[in-house]
Amino acid sequence: MTRIIIEGAHVVTVDAADTEHPIGFVVLDGETIAAVGSGSAPEEWRADAAIVDGRGCLVTPGLINTHHHLYQWLTRGYAQDAILFDWLTALYPLWSRIDAGLTGIGAAGAMAVLARSGCTTVADHHYVFPKDSGDIVGAIVEASERIGVRLHATRGSMDLGASQGGLPPDFAVESTDTILRASVEAVEQYHDPSFSSMARVALAPCSPFSVTAELLRESALLARSLGVRLHTHASETVEEDAYCLERFGKTPTAYLEDLGWLGSDVWMAHCVHLDETAIGRYAETGTGIAHCPSSNARLAAGIAPVRDLLRAGVPVGLGVDGAASNESGQLGIEIREAVLMGRLKTGSDSFSVRTGLRIATMNGARVLGRQDEIGSLEPGKLADVAVWRVDTVEHAGILDPVAALGLGAMPPLARLFVNGRLVVEESTLVTAEEPVLAEQVAAASKQLAERA
Ligand SMILES: [Zn+2]
Repeated sequence: MTRIIIEGAHVVTVDAADTEHPIGFVVLDGETIAAVGSGSAPEEWRADAAIVDGRGCLVTPGLINTHHHLYQWLTRGYAQDAILFDWLTALYPLWSRIDAGLTGIGAAGAMAVLARSGCTTVADHHYVFPKDSGDIVGAIVEASERIGVRLHATRGSMDLGASQGGLPPDFAVESTDTILRASVEAVEQYHDPSFSSMARVALAPCSPFSVTAELLRESALLARSLGVRLHTHASETVEEDAYCLERFGKTPTAYLEDLGWLGSDVWMAHCVHLDETAIGRYAETGTGIAHCPSSNARLAAGIAPVRDLLRAGVPVGLGVDGAASNESGQLGIEIREAVLMGRLKTGSDSFSVRTGLRIATMNGARVLGRQDEIGSLEPGKLADVAVWRVDTVEHAGILDPVAALGLGAMPPLARLFVNGRLVVEESTLVTAEEPVLAEQVAAASKQLAERA
Protein backbone atom coordinates (compact mmCIF):
# COMPACT_ATOMS: atom_id res chain seq x y z
CA MET A 1 0.00 0.00 0.00
CA THR A 2 1.39 3.39 -0.96
CA ARG A 3 0.91 6.13 1.60
CA ILE A 4 1.28 9.74 0.46
CA ILE A 5 1.06 12.87 2.59
CA ILE A 6 0.43 16.25 0.96
CA GLU A 7 1.13 19.02 3.46
CA GLY A 8 1.63 22.76 3.77
CA ALA A 9 -1.07 23.50 1.18
CA HIS A 10 -4.34 25.45 1.20
CA VAL A 11 -6.80 22.54 1.38
CA VAL A 12 -10.38 23.05 0.19
CA THR A 13 -12.36 19.95 1.17
CA VAL A 14 -15.75 20.82 -0.46
CA ASP A 15 -17.39 18.89 2.41
CA ALA A 16 -20.91 19.75 3.64
CA ALA A 17 -19.56 22.50 5.93
CA ASP A 18 -17.26 23.99 3.23
CA THR A 19 -14.24 23.30 5.46
CA GLU A 20 -10.95 24.84 4.34
CA HIS A 21 -7.49 24.53 5.92
CA PRO A 22 -5.28 27.49 4.89
CA ILE A 23 -2.25 25.40 5.93
CA GLY A 24 -3.38 21.81 5.87
CA PHE A 25 -2.65 18.21 4.95
CA VAL A 26 -4.25 15.28 3.15
CA VAL A 27 -3.19 11.66 3.76
CA LEU A 28 -3.70 9.20 0.88
CA ASP A 29 -3.56 5.58 2.00
CA GLY A 30 -3.71 3.28 -1.01
CA GLU A 31 -6.84 4.11 -2.98
CA THR A 32 -8.61 6.05 -0.21
CA ILE A 33 -8.20 9.27 1.76
CA ALA A 34 -7.18 8.45 5.34
CA ALA A 35 -7.07 11.88 6.97
CA VAL A 36 -7.51 15.60 6.25
CA GLY A 37 -6.79 18.48 8.60
CA SER A 38 -4.93 21.64 9.62
CA GLY A 39 -1.18 21.92 10.21
CA SER A 40 1.10 18.92 9.67
CA ALA A 41 -0.08 15.33 9.32
CA PRO A 42 -0.07 13.47 12.69
CA GLU A 43 2.86 11.14 13.49
CA GLU A 44 0.70 8.00 13.19
CA TRP A 45 0.52 8.50 9.40
CA ARG A 46 4.14 9.38 8.75
CA ALA A 47 5.78 5.93 8.86
CA ASP A 48 6.77 4.91 5.29
CA ALA A 49 4.81 7.82 3.80
CA ALA A 50 6.03 9.74 0.77
CA ILE A 51 5.75 13.47 1.49
CA VAL A 52 4.56 15.93 -1.15
CA ASP A 53 5.54 19.50 -0.26
CA GLY A 54 2.31 21.39 -0.81
CA ARG A 55 3.58 24.85 0.05
CA GLY A 56 2.43 27.31 -2.60
CA CYS A 57 -0.33 24.92 -3.66
CA LEU A 58 -4.12 24.67 -3.56
CA VAL A 59 -5.47 21.17 -2.94
CA THR A 60 -9.00 20.32 -4.12
CA PRO A 61 -10.95 17.18 -4.85
CA GLY A 62 -10.25 15.88 -8.37
CA LEU A 63 -12.62 17.54 -10.85
CA ILE A 64 -15.56 15.58 -12.26
CA ASN A 65 -16.53 15.95 -15.91
CA THR A 66 -20.20 15.01 -16.24
CA HIS A 67 -20.53 15.26 -20.04
CA HIS A 68 -18.14 14.64 -22.92
CA HIS A 69 -17.89 12.96 -26.33
CA LEU A 70 -14.31 11.75 -26.25
CA TYR A 71 -14.19 10.59 -29.89
CA GLN A 72 -14.69 14.22 -30.98
CA TRP A 73 -11.05 14.87 -30.09
CA LEU A 74 -10.44 13.80 -33.72
CA THR A 75 -12.84 16.41 -35.16
CA ARG A 76 -11.78 19.73 -33.63
CA GLY A 77 -11.99 22.92 -35.66
CA TYR A 78 -14.92 22.03 -37.93
CA ALA A 79 -18.08 24.14 -38.53
CA GLN A 80 -16.64 26.91 -36.41
CA ASP A 81 -19.46 29.44 -36.83
CA ALA A 82 -22.49 27.12 -36.86
CA ILE A 83 -25.34 26.71 -34.38
CA LEU A 84 -26.16 23.23 -33.04
CA PHE A 85 -28.38 21.77 -35.78
CA ASP A 86 -26.15 23.04 -38.64
CA TRP A 87 -23.03 21.97 -36.75
CA LEU A 88 -24.41 18.46 -36.23
CA THR A 89 -25.46 18.18 -39.87
CA ALA A 90 -21.93 19.17 -40.94
CA LEU A 91 -20.28 16.63 -38.63
CA TYR A 92 -22.52 13.53 -38.90
CA PRO A 93 -20.87 12.32 -42.17
CA LEU A 94 -17.43 12.52 -40.57
CA TRP A 95 -18.46 10.89 -37.29
CA SER A 96 -20.22 8.03 -39.05
CA ARG A 97 -16.79 6.84 -40.35
CA ILE A 98 -15.43 6.31 -36.84
CA ASP A 99 -14.38 2.88 -35.56
CA ALA A 100 -13.04 1.38 -32.33
CA GLY A 101 -9.37 1.97 -33.21
CA LEU A 102 -9.82 5.67 -33.98
CA THR A 103 -12.17 6.16 -31.01
CA GLY A 104 -9.57 4.71 -28.64
CA ILE A 105 -6.92 7.17 -29.88
CA GLY A 106 -9.27 10.17 -29.69
CA ALA A 107 -10.41 9.15 -26.21
CA ALA A 108 -6.83 8.81 -24.95
CA GLY A 109 -5.97 12.27 -26.31
CA ALA A 110 -9.07 13.85 -24.76
CA MET A 111 -8.51 12.17 -21.39
CA ALA A 112 -4.84 13.18 -21.33
CA VAL A 113 -5.87 16.84 -21.68
CA LEU A 114 -8.64 16.38 -19.10
CA ALA A 115 -6.19 14.89 -16.59
CA ARG A 116 -3.77 17.76 -17.19
CA SER A 117 -6.61 20.15 -16.29
CA GLY A 118 -7.37 18.53 -12.93
CA CYS A 119 -10.05 16.07 -14.03
CA THR A 120 -10.11 12.66 -12.31
CA THR A 121 -13.54 11.33 -13.42
CA VAL A 122 -14.91 11.47 -16.96
CA ALA A 123 -18.45 10.77 -18.14
CA ASP A 124 -18.37 9.97 -21.86
CA HIS A 125 -21.45 10.03 -24.08
CA HIS A 126 -20.75 7.94 -27.18
CA TYR A 127 -23.68 7.65 -29.57
CA VAL A 128 -22.17 6.91 -33.02
CA PHE A 129 -21.81 3.16 -33.68
CA PRO A 130 -21.30 2.54 -37.43
CA LYS A 131 -21.81 -1.01 -38.73
CA ASP A 132 -18.77 -3.28 -38.25
CA SER A 133 -16.89 -0.58 -36.30
CA GLY A 134 -15.62 -2.97 -33.60
CA ASP A 135 -15.92 -2.70 -29.81
CA ILE A 136 -16.12 1.08 -29.36
CA VAL A 137 -17.12 1.04 -25.67
CA GLY A 138 -14.26 -1.39 -25.01
CA ALA A 139 -11.81 0.94 -26.76
CA ILE A 140 -12.91 3.86 -24.54
CA VAL A 141 -12.57 1.74 -21.39
CA GLU A 142 -9.08 0.68 -22.50
CA ALA A 143 -8.09 4.31 -23.17
CA SER A 144 -9.22 5.30 -19.66
CA GLU A 145 -7.04 2.52 -18.21
CA ARG A 146 -4.10 3.75 -20.28
CA ILE A 147 -4.43 7.36 -19.07
CA GLY A 148 -5.53 6.40 -15.54
CA VAL A 149 -8.78 8.35 -15.11
CA ARG A 150 -12.06 7.10 -13.66
CA LEU A 151 -14.64 6.52 -16.41
CA HIS A 152 -18.41 6.63 -16.65
CA ALA A 153 -18.89 5.29 -20.17
CA THR A 154 -22.27 5.22 -21.87
CA ARG A 155 -23.78 3.06 -24.56
CA GLY A 156 -25.37 5.91 -26.48
CA SER A 157 -27.50 5.65 -29.60
CA MET A 158 -29.44 7.21 -32.47
CA ASP A 159 -32.36 5.43 -34.20
CA LEU A 160 -34.31 8.33 -35.74
CA GLY A 161 -32.92 9.08 -39.20
CA ALA A 162 -33.88 11.98 -41.46
CA SER A 163 -36.38 9.86 -43.42
CA GLN A 164 -38.35 9.38 -40.16
CA GLY A 165 -38.23 13.06 -39.22
CA GLY A 166 -34.99 13.00 -37.21
CA LEU A 167 -31.96 15.24 -37.68
CA PRO A 168 -29.20 12.64 -38.40
CA PRO A 169 -28.89 11.14 -41.88
CA ASP A 170 -30.19 7.55 -42.16
CA PHE A 171 -26.66 6.16 -42.60
CA ALA A 172 -25.69 7.38 -39.10
CA VAL A 173 -28.43 5.56 -37.16
CA GLU A 174 -28.94 1.99 -35.88
CA SER A 175 -32.10 -0.06 -35.40
CA THR A 176 -33.83 0.09 -32.01
CA ASP A 177 -33.33 -3.66 -31.46
CA THR A 178 -29.61 -3.53 -32.24
CA ILE A 179 -29.18 -0.68 -29.76
CA LEU A 180 -31.02 -2.42 -26.92
CA ARG A 181 -29.06 -5.66 -27.47
CA ALA A 182 -25.73 -3.80 -27.56
CA SER A 183 -26.71 -1.86 -24.42
CA VAL A 184 -27.13 -5.08 -22.44
CA GLU A 185 -23.78 -6.36 -23.76
CA ALA A 186 -21.93 -3.15 -22.82
CA VAL A 187 -23.29 -3.24 -19.26
CA GLU A 188 -22.51 -6.95 -18.84
CA GLN A 189 -18.96 -6.49 -20.15
CA TYR A 190 -17.84 -3.20 -18.66
CA HIS A 191 -20.05 -2.01 -15.77
CA ASP A 192 -18.33 -2.35 -12.39
CA PRO A 193 -20.67 -1.22 -9.58
CA SER A 194 -18.03 -1.59 -6.81
CA PHE A 195 -17.10 1.28 -4.45
CA SER A 196 -13.75 2.06 -6.06
CA SER A 197 -14.95 1.27 -9.60
CA MET A 198 -12.84 2.78 -12.38
CA ALA A 199 -15.45 2.01 -15.09
CA ARG A 200 -19.22 2.19 -14.98
CA VAL A 201 -21.68 2.15 -17.87
CA ALA A 202 -24.92 4.11 -18.38
CA LEU A 203 -27.45 4.06 -21.24
CA ALA A 204 -27.64 7.24 -23.30
CA PRO A 205 -29.93 7.72 -26.33
CA CYS A 206 -28.61 10.90 -27.92
CA SER A 207 -31.38 13.54 -27.89
CA PRO A 208 -35.13 14.02 -28.51
CA PHE A 209 -34.46 14.88 -32.18
CA SER A 210 -32.24 11.87 -32.97
CA VAL A 211 -33.97 8.97 -31.20
CA THR A 212 -37.49 7.50 -31.21
CA ALA A 213 -39.90 7.68 -28.29
CA GLU A 214 -39.81 3.88 -28.24
CA LEU A 215 -36.04 3.84 -27.73
CA LEU A 216 -36.27 6.39 -24.90
CA ARG A 217 -39.01 4.38 -23.15
CA GLU A 218 -37.29 1.02 -23.61
CA SER A 219 -33.87 2.36 -22.59
CA ALA A 220 -35.31 3.71 -19.34
CA LEU A 221 -36.91 0.36 -18.52
CA LEU A 222 -33.74 -1.52 -19.47
CA ALA A 223 -31.40 0.74 -17.46
CA ARG A 224 -33.58 0.32 -14.37
CA SER A 225 -33.69 -3.45 -14.78
CA LEU A 226 -29.87 -3.51 -15.10
CA GLY A 227 -29.31 -1.04 -12.23
CA VAL A 228 -27.45 1.54 -14.32
CA ARG A 229 -27.99 5.27 -14.89
CA LEU A 230 -29.56 7.16 -17.80
CA HIS A 231 -28.15 10.11 -19.72
CA THR A 232 -29.16 12.26 -22.69
CA HIS A 233 -29.04 15.80 -24.10
CA ALA A 234 -32.01 18.02 -23.24
CA SER A 235 -33.23 21.59 -23.72
CA GLU A 236 -30.01 22.71 -25.36
CA THR A 237 -31.34 25.19 -27.95
CA VAL A 238 -34.44 27.16 -28.94
CA GLU A 239 -34.50 25.09 -32.14
CA GLU A 240 -34.86 21.91 -30.03
CA ASP A 241 -37.75 23.51 -28.13
CA ALA A 242 -39.44 24.35 -31.44
CA TYR A 243 -38.86 20.81 -32.76
CA CYS A 244 -40.44 19.23 -29.66
CA LEU A 245 -43.37 21.64 -29.71
CA GLU A 246 -44.09 20.95 -33.36
CA ARG A 247 -43.55 17.17 -33.27
CA PHE A 248 -44.80 16.25 -29.78
CA GLY A 249 -46.83 19.29 -28.75
CA LYS A 250 -44.80 19.78 -25.57
CA THR A 251 -41.50 20.95 -24.12
CA PRO A 252 -38.48 18.61 -24.07
CA THR A 253 -38.90 18.28 -20.27
CA ALA A 254 -42.56 17.22 -20.52
CA TYR A 255 -41.75 14.84 -23.40
CA LEU A 256 -38.90 13.18 -21.51
CA GLU A 257 -40.91 12.95 -18.29
CA ASP A 258 -43.75 11.17 -20.11
CA LEU A 259 -41.25 8.55 -21.27
CA GLY A 260 -39.89 7.85 -17.77
CA TRP A 261 -36.90 10.13 -18.09
CA LEU A 262 -36.97 12.26 -14.93
CA GLY A 263 -35.50 10.75 -11.77
CA SER A 264 -32.50 10.67 -9.45
CA ASP A 265 -30.90 8.01 -11.69
CA VAL A 266 -30.99 10.35 -14.73
CA TRP A 267 -28.73 13.22 -15.75
CA MET A 268 -29.16 15.50 -18.75
CA ALA A 269 -26.60 17.57 -20.61
CA HIS A 270 -27.16 21.34 -21.05
CA CYS A 271 -30.69 22.34 -19.91
CA VAL A 272 -30.12 25.88 -21.16
CA HIS A 273 -33.79 26.52 -21.90
CA LEU A 274 -35.87 25.54 -18.87
CA ASP A 275 -38.90 27.48 -17.64
CA GLU A 276 -39.97 27.61 -13.99
CA THR A 277 -42.20 24.55 -14.34
CA ALA A 278 -39.36 22.51 -15.80
CA ILE A 279 -36.92 23.63 -13.09
CA GLY A 280 -39.50 22.52 -10.52
CA ARG A 281 -39.80 19.07 -12.10
CA TYR A 282 -36.00 18.63 -12.17
CA ALA A 283 -35.85 19.61 -8.49
CA GLU A 284 -38.75 17.42 -7.36
CA THR A 285 -37.39 14.35 -9.16
CA GLY A 286 -33.69 14.91 -8.33
CA THR A 287 -32.75 14.77 -12.01
CA GLY A 288 -29.15 15.86 -12.54
CA ILE A 289 -27.76 18.36 -15.06
CA ALA A 290 -24.37 18.61 -16.76
CA HIS A 291 -23.73 22.34 -17.27
CA CYS A 292 -21.41 22.92 -20.26
CA PRO A 293 -20.76 26.69 -20.46
CA SER A 294 -18.03 26.77 -23.14
CA SER A 295 -19.89 24.49 -25.52
CA ASN A 296 -23.10 26.47 -25.04
CA ALA A 297 -21.17 29.64 -25.89
CA ARG A 298 -19.35 28.09 -28.90
CA LEU A 299 -22.71 27.09 -30.43
CA ALA A 300 -24.45 30.29 -29.22
CA ALA A 301 -27.06 28.13 -27.46
CA GLY A 302 -27.46 30.44 -24.46
CA ILE A 303 -26.58 30.38 -20.75
CA ALA A 304 -28.17 27.78 -18.46
CA PRO A 305 -30.05 29.19 -15.42
CA VAL A 306 -27.61 27.62 -12.95
CA ARG A 307 -28.30 29.96 -10.03
CA ASP A 308 -32.02 29.20 -10.19
CA LEU A 309 -31.38 25.47 -10.59
CA LEU A 310 -29.09 25.40 -7.54
CA ARG A 311 -31.56 27.44 -5.47
CA ALA A 312 -34.28 24.95 -6.37
CA GLY A 313 -32.01 22.08 -5.22
CA VAL A 314 -31.28 20.55 -8.63
CA PRO A 315 -27.95 18.65 -8.75
CA VAL A 316 -25.89 20.61 -11.29
CA GLY A 317 -22.44 19.33 -12.27
CA LEU A 318 -19.92 20.69 -14.78
CA GLY A 319 -19.12 19.29 -18.23
CA VAL A 320 -16.65 20.00 -21.01
CA ASP A 321 -18.86 18.52 -23.78
CA GLY A 322 -17.22 17.10 -26.92
CA ALA A 323 -14.15 18.82 -28.30
CA ALA A 324 -15.89 19.51 -31.61
CA SER A 325 -17.87 22.20 -29.76
CA ASN A 326 -15.21 22.97 -27.14
CA GLU A 327 -11.75 22.67 -28.61
CA SER A 328 -10.12 23.48 -25.24
CA GLY A 329 -11.19 20.18 -23.70
CA GLN A 330 -9.94 21.39 -20.30
CA LEU A 331 -12.24 20.96 -17.31
CA GLY A 332 -10.28 23.34 -15.06
CA ILE A 333 -11.14 26.21 -17.42
CA GLU A 334 -14.85 25.42 -17.23
CA ILE A 335 -14.97 26.52 -13.57
CA ARG A 336 -14.03 30.04 -14.66
CA GLU A 337 -16.44 29.89 -17.60
CA ALA A 338 -19.28 28.81 -15.29
CA VAL A 339 -18.53 31.63 -12.84
CA LEU A 340 -18.30 34.31 -15.54
CA MET A 341 -21.35 33.19 -17.49
CA GLY A 342 -23.35 32.71 -14.30
CA ARG A 343 -22.68 36.36 -13.52
CA LEU A 344 -23.62 37.50 -17.01
CA LYS A 345 -26.91 35.65 -16.58
CA THR A 346 -27.90 36.60 -13.04
CA GLY A 347 -25.57 39.25 -11.61
CA SER A 348 -22.18 39.63 -9.95
CA ASP A 349 -23.20 38.21 -6.57
CA SER A 350 -24.97 35.16 -7.97
CA PHE A 351 -22.04 32.85 -8.64
CA SER A 352 -18.99 32.62 -6.38
CA VAL A 353 -15.72 30.87 -7.22
CA ARG A 354 -16.53 28.35 -4.47
CA THR A 355 -19.87 27.59 -6.13
CA GLY A 356 -17.88 26.98 -9.32
CA LEU A 357 -15.57 24.57 -7.52
CA ARG A 358 -18.50 22.81 -5.85
CA ILE A 359 -20.35 22.14 -9.11
CA ALA A 360 -17.07 20.82 -10.58
CA THR A 361 -16.56 18.37 -7.69
CA MET A 362 -19.20 17.38 -5.12
CA ASN A 363 -22.19 18.23 -7.31
CA GLY A 364 -20.67 16.28 -10.19
CA ALA A 365 -20.33 13.27 -7.90
CA ARG A 366 -24.03 13.53 -7.06
CA VAL A 367 -24.95 13.85 -10.74
CA LEU A 368 -23.12 10.56 -11.41
CA GLY A 369 -24.56 8.88 -8.29
CA ARG A 370 -21.14 8.71 -6.61
CA GLN A 371 -21.56 11.19 -3.76
CA ASP A 372 -20.39 8.58 -1.20
CA GLU A 373 -17.20 7.77 -3.11
CA ILE A 374 -15.78 10.93 -4.72
CA GLY A 375 -16.28 14.72 -4.95
CA SER A 376 -14.86 15.88 -1.60
CA LEU A 377 -11.72 15.43 0.50
CA GLU A 378 -13.00 13.39 3.43
CA PRO A 379 -11.63 10.29 5.20
CA GLY A 380 -12.97 7.10 3.61
CA LYS A 381 -13.52 8.61 0.19
CA LEU A 382 -11.49 7.59 -2.85
CA ALA A 383 -8.12 9.32 -3.27
CA ASP A 384 -8.93 11.55 -6.27
CA VAL A 385 -6.96 14.70 -5.51
CA ALA A 386 -5.74 17.72 -7.50
CA VAL A 387 -2.74 19.74 -6.27
CA TRP A 388 -2.67 23.08 -8.11
CA ARG A 389 0.41 25.29 -8.09
CA VAL A 390 -0.57 28.88 -7.20
CA ASP A 391 2.93 30.25 -6.60
CA THR A 392 3.99 30.72 -10.23
CA VAL A 393 3.92 34.14 -11.85
CA GLU A 394 0.26 33.69 -12.88
CA HIS A 395 -0.95 33.58 -9.28
CA ALA A 396 1.90 34.45 -6.90
CA GLY A 397 0.58 36.85 -4.25
CA ILE A 398 -3.09 36.34 -5.05
CA LEU A 399 -5.32 37.10 -2.05
CA ASP A 400 -7.44 33.94 -2.35
CA PRO A 401 -6.07 30.72 -3.93
CA VAL A 402 -9.58 29.56 -4.88
CA ALA A 403 -9.91 32.75 -6.97
CA ALA A 404 -6.81 31.59 -8.88
CA LEU A 405 -8.81 28.61 -10.08
CA GLY A 406 -12.18 30.33 -10.47
CA LEU A 407 -11.13 33.68 -11.94
CA GLY A 408 -7.51 33.43 -13.05
CA ALA A 409 -5.50 31.47 -15.59
CA MET A 410 -5.86 27.74 -15.03
CA PRO A 411 -3.06 27.00 -12.52
CA PRO A 412 -0.43 24.40 -13.41
CA LEU A 413 -0.90 21.03 -11.69
CA ALA A 414 1.80 19.98 -9.26
CA ARG A 415 0.17 16.54 -8.85
CA LEU A 416 -2.99 14.71 -9.81
CA PHE A 417 -3.94 11.47 -8.07
CA VAL A 418 -6.73 9.16 -9.22
CA ASN A 419 -7.65 6.30 -6.89
CA GLY A 420 -4.33 7.02 -5.12
CA ARG A 421 -2.30 6.62 -8.34
CA LEU A 422 -0.11 9.46 -9.60
CA VAL A 423 -1.35 10.51 -13.07
CA VAL A 424 0.15 14.00 -13.50
CA GLU A 425 3.35 15.40 -12.01
CA GLU A 426 4.47 19.02 -12.54
CA SER A 427 2.07 19.50 -15.48
CA THR A 428 3.24 16.34 -17.24
CA LEU A 429 1.24 13.18 -17.73
CA VAL A 430 3.15 10.29 -16.14
CA THR A 431 0.92 7.45 -17.39
CA ALA A 432 1.55 7.95 -21.14
CA GLU A 433 4.05 9.67 -23.42
CA GLU A 434 2.43 12.95 -24.49
CA PRO A 435 4.43 13.37 -27.76
CA VAL A 436 3.45 9.84 -28.82
CA LEU A 437 -0.21 10.58 -28.03
CA ALA A 438 -0.06 13.82 -30.02
CA GLU A 439 1.34 12.01 -33.06
CA GLN A 440 -1.34 9.32 -32.82
CA VAL A 441 -4.12 11.93 -32.53
CA ALA A 442 -2.83 13.88 -35.54
CA ALA A 443 -2.62 10.73 -37.69
CA ALA A 444 -6.06 9.49 -36.59
CA SER A 445 -7.70 12.90 -37.24
CA LYS A 446 -6.24 12.90 -40.75
CA GLN A 447 -7.33 9.33 -41.39
CA LEU A 448 -10.91 10.08 -40.31
CA ALA A 449 -11.05 13.23 -42.48
CA GLU A 450 -9.89 11.23 -45.48
CA ARG A 451 -12.63 8.63 -44.99
CA ALA A 452 -15.44 11.19 -45.25
ZN1 LIG B 1 -22.97 16.74 -25.80
